[in-house]
Amino acid sequence: MKILKFGGTSVGSVENLHRVKDILLNDDDQKIVVCSAMSGVTDQLVKLVAFIKLKDAEAITRNLHKLESKHIEVVETLIDNHELRGDLKDGISGLITEMMDLSNQEYSEVLNAKVLTFGETLLTYIFSNFLASTGVTNRLIRAQDFMFVDNVDNPNINKVSKKLHKVLEDNEPAHIYITQGFVCRDHLNQINTLKRGGSDYTATIIGAAMDADEIQIWTDIDGLHNNDPRFVEGTNPIAHLTYNEAAELAYFGAKILHPQTVSPVVGKDIPVLLKNTFDPEAPGTVISNKTYRKGLKAISAKDGITAIKIKSNRMLMTHGYLRRIFEVFDNFRTSIDMITTSEIAISLTIDDTTYIDEIVKEIEGYAEVTVDYNHSIICVVGESVINDKYSHKLFEILNYIPVRMISYGGSNNNISILVETKDKIPTLRFLNEKLFLTHQEAVL
Ligand code: ASP
Ligand code: MG
Repeated sequence: MKILKFGGTSVGSVENLHRVKDILLNDDDQKIVVCSAMSGVTDQLVKLVAFIKLKDAEAITRNLHKLESKHIEVVETLIDNHELRGDLKDGISGLITEMMDLSNQEYSEVLNAKVLTFGETLLTYIFSNFLASTGVTNRLIRAQDFMFVDNVDNPNINKVSKKLHKVLEDNEPAHIYITQGFVCRDHLNQINTLKRGGSDYTATIIGAAMDADEIQIWTDIDGLHNNDPRFVEGTNPIAHLTYNEAAELAYFGAKILHPQTVSPVVGKDIPVLLKNTFDPEAPGTVISNKTYRKGLKAISAKDGITAIKIKSNRMLMTHGYLRRIFEVFDNFRTSIDMITTSEIAISLTIDDTTYIDEIVKEIEGYAEVTVDYNHSIICVVGESVINDKYSHKLFEILNYIPVRMISYGGSNNNISILVETKDKIPTLRFLNEKLFLTHQEAVL
């Protein structure tokens, strides 16, 4: 069995839905197909949540009507059969009415999750019916019936597996199953999300639960590139990555993958392919546990980083001091990305500033704290990258750009530097030049 996930752009228009259908028919392996919402829809639902909080009935109605027309417009051109077209339009309007009722209720976390994941419900409903109307037999299965993810950071794959097998048994056997990405049930069995971009994670959780042969993540780019193609010219797709490399890149900013994507399949050794819906023949990137080449592979950047310097006039490194500091972050469920220390100070970074005031207040009781916002972590990644013969060149950046922190040796696979976000693009370009363009053999 294969798991195929299609992102927002891939399912974002009538033309693209036809492409997805062609991809599904490329081979006759059994498949579970995970779909995102059409591009732009989840963003629109984020706005809807804001209107629900404000109890702005007029804005809620406007928002939902817009959503309704967007999906009905797709059905108008996608579905040839007149009768089915009418039924689907009614079906969409019915779902919108349900959402309208929900949107006029009191805000809660569950309501938030139900609203945010509505785009996936709409799209899979349309897509499954479209496939059927063209003779492609498929079953639409509801992710909320089997994606029981008690702990988002460490999903219980066995539980998902049992539930999913039960759902499949309860349905007539099929070659193609369609389901929603992003949505799950949490430890209270309530509807929740796997966080923005979470459909990738849905696919790998399902892949692990089904012991799939392969997971394919279809997006609008030909794999993971060795630098950010939005800011740097002359980037290249990387043919092979290890799970470790992919995890580091996804966590440190590579937008193409949700940060937790590979974790469910690492122990199972199921390959994850990153493919381009608009160029299905392109090889894309294969992520597996095979190391084809060690050393420098890629550079990525993560924005929205806050640097915190904690300085003590007492000896910082005395026994128990670090634990005391880390406990503060732990108590406020704030994870730390980078750390550097000297004898009297420690600098660290966080990306979630929800509790920054509380954290600072607590540490200020015994140390001097400085907070710097608007930083970016630039991360150079590759198995054993610290031993790559060209890696030292990255430190030449110090001649040109003020670097706030450097983390080297934390793992063999990652060297990170922290710069102000305004310096991010020049840094990425400089590193691309120094680490890749002048050494073409290091590219793939
Ligand atoms: N539709 C959700 C989002 O936009 C999930 C996903 O696309 O992966 O975040
Ligand atoms: Mg995505």
